[in-house]
Amino acid sequence: MRTYKLIFILAIDALDYELVKKLNLKNLKQLEYNKIEVPINEKLGVPISADVWASFLIGKNISVNLQSSSNLINFLLKIPYAFNIDSRVGFGLKIKKMLKKFGISFPARFKGLNQKTFFDYTNSKEINVPYYSFDHSTFDLGYKYNNEKISINQLIKGLKSIYEDRKKQFINQLNSVEDTNVIVAYMHVIDYLQHILFMRASKIEQYYIDLDDYVSVLKRQVKDSFGEVIFIIVSDHGFDFDKGTHSMMGFYSSNTHLIPRPKKITDFYGIILDFVKKSNGLSSS
Ligand SMILES: [Zn+2]
Repeated sequence: MRTYKLIFILAIDALDYELVKKLNLKNLKQLEYNKIEVPINEKLGVPISADVWASFLIGKNISVNLQSSSNLINFLLKIPYAFNIDSRVGFGLKIKKMLKKFGISFPARFKGLNQKTFFDYTNSKEINVPYYSFDHSTFDLGYKYNNEKISINQLIKGLKSIYEDRKKQFINQLNSVEDTNVIVAYMHVIDYLQHILFMRASKIEQYYIDLDDYVSVLKRQVKDSFGEVIFIIVSDHGFDFDKGTHSMMGFYSSNTHLIPRPKKITDFYGIILDFVKKSNGLSSS
């Protein structure tokens, strides 16, 4: 029976189960890994990050209203998203202009959540988590690209630098954590990179392989700082590289056997609160 002082959750937006499996990335897969159910956005027919992360934090499926109440605008929003239409030319541009007319302004932001999350019931630390300290750097960069302020190459370069900075931020912030049961660190940039680079499989695979290496470094740092920890990796959906859209299932992995095994992304809420309640933590295999 091993005791754990901390649950560390590395939340990676759009980390794809199938690709992790195909590349056999051992650090990402850990001791146990699987697909998990995530809420599907009713209007778009796919999971969207805003809904899924809100549901993860609150522990039940909710849909976060990032859209207009106008059915027309919702319909128009769905088109470029579903078909990956470039919003700078032709039909996509027409849609963007119409949306602007209706007063929808970008860059996008996660709105505030007005429900309690597991952060409210635990001694916890969040690093760049949506609805908390998420810095919106990917949204801001995307906004510049969509408004033709930067080229596609500048966008890709900018995303790479956000990725590198984020990796460093997680490790640096470990030093400033005290008296904590739960740490959640969130990275959005992989989602964006997949939307931009999904036709270039080798580029995406390089990021996955790099992430796998990074996880082993991060895990060692977490262990050095906190001793034995439950280390969980979770994603809000995967990516369909044929269609260029989100796929329907999320991903999780854990360095210990989680009991009960999570089936849905909302199950982590109970797992976290249970862990905190039993100060001795979960038993390891
Ligand atoms: Zn996402």
